[in-house]
Amino acid sequence: MAKTTHIAIVSGPGFSHLVPIVEFSKLLIKLHPNFHVNCIIPSFGSPPESSKAYLKTLPSNIDTILLPPINKQQLPQGVNPAVTITLSLPSIHEALKSLSSKFPLTALVADTFAFPTLEFAKEFNALSYFYTPCSAMVLSLALHMPKLDEEVSGEYKDLTEPIKLQGCVPILGVDLPASTQSRSSEAYKSFLERTKAIATADGIIINTFLEMESGAIRALEEYENGKIRLYPVGPITQKGSRDEVDESVLYVSFGSGGTLSQNQINELASGLELSGQRFLWVLRAPSNSVNAAYLEAEKEDPLKFLPSGFLERTKEKGLVVPSWAPQVQVLSHNSVGGFLSHCGWNSTLESVQEGVPIITWPLFVEQRMNAVMLTDGLKVTLRPKFNEDGIVEKEEIAKVIKCLMEGEEGKGIRERMMSLKDFSASALKDGSSTQTLSQLARHWENSSEV
Ligand code: UDP
Repeated sequence: MAKTTHIAIVSGPGFSHLVPIVEFSKLLIKLHPNFHVNCIIPSFGSPPESSKAYLKTLPSNIDTILLPPINKQQLPQGVNPAVTITLSLPSIHEALKSLSSKFPLTALVADTFAFPTLEFAKEFNALSYFYTPCSAMVLSLALHMPKLDEEVSGEYKDLTEPIKLQGCVPILGVDLPASTQSRSSEAYKSFLERTKAIATADGIIINTFLEMESGAIRALEEYENGKIRLYPVGPITQKGSRDEVDESVLYVSFGSGGTLSQNQINELASGLELSGQRFLWVLRAPSNSVNAAYLEAEKEDPLKFLPSGFLERTKEKGLVVPSWAPQVQVLSHNSVGGFLSHCGWNSTLESVQEGVPIITWPLFVEQRMNAVMLTDGLKVTLRPKFNEDGIVEKEEIAKVIKCLMEGEEGKGIRERMMSLKDFSASALKDGSSTQTLSQLARHWENSSEV
């Protein structure tokens, strides 16, 4: 029997940073059963219900180590994934030490937020890998950030010309990740720090696939004469399975923690009503901070924030569910024909895998970049316009929904999304992503033998 190769994985806090790295582990073990994965999971408090339920479904050859919650009193400005990691570093180190006393660790793989843990790899004689659950375009931006930081004076959002990253669609400064929007902020400093750390890892595993982002991936492979080893292994998602398709329902959701203002909830409700289309809307209580619910559970019933009479008026057409829906199953359901999404990368890949075209509604982090890439580059989405107050008005919402679900333009978008779906299936079946993962697994096996 082949010798077991042990690797350790450190996830980021929050559902959408836990799932992609654990799903990566599951895929590795499915294709290469001689691997054993230990997944170290930092968390802010007790993990959200969604994460707890998910962790119960894992196979026995993935061990999970749930770290003790961090001391909240040490948090200066409330919940923040990067700070959660910083404060968890001693317990992550402890967990690695304990693992390496039992067996040699061949590789340490860390989620984007957990990048500071890669410094521990050398101490435990392990190779270090950065796991990015974002697009190749976002990685490309990250790698070019130190240079942009030197070259650009003033704020990126004031640039009049779009930024051109090799192999990517041009991107305006305002569409760059939220953390880059104020250069004097702590968030920007920590973004820069992370980008400098990325290039020092032994490799970068990325949840995308060649056929979806060939320009960006090829350019990254050539970055500084092949300085980084890139492993595009995606799309890695929890899988659904879709059979017959009727495509009349629009699914509306803003990820694991995105929230809208009360004003925007009202406009969205009216827009859905005006569109006359069937819908399934995952609703959160309003907040003026777009990512209010990301790491903390909601305390209020969201449904009470809907406009008066809305549920009654739309009961034949739509369903509103509070806070959470089993998204992968929803997207794989044969009646779902459109996704109004905040364009988080997991949601994007899940939609691609099911061939469901998207209406983009980016809220925070790198979602605007994803929206630009999907709309201008791949042309598999429609992008509604926000007004000067940052609101999408009901008429615009209704127009875009109708266009996607019934219009000619929607038809073209749907066809392109279906062909991207086919590409994603073949990348995983025996194509580019599976071959890349095997190459990485072989490299790890060989390293564990020396
Ligand atoms: N998700 C879900 N049900 C919900 C909302 C989100 O299952 O009601 C899942 C979704 O399928 C995806 C993840 O949560 O896997 C959200 O990740 P994404 O990267 O799209 O966005 P983020 O949560 O980071 O904003």
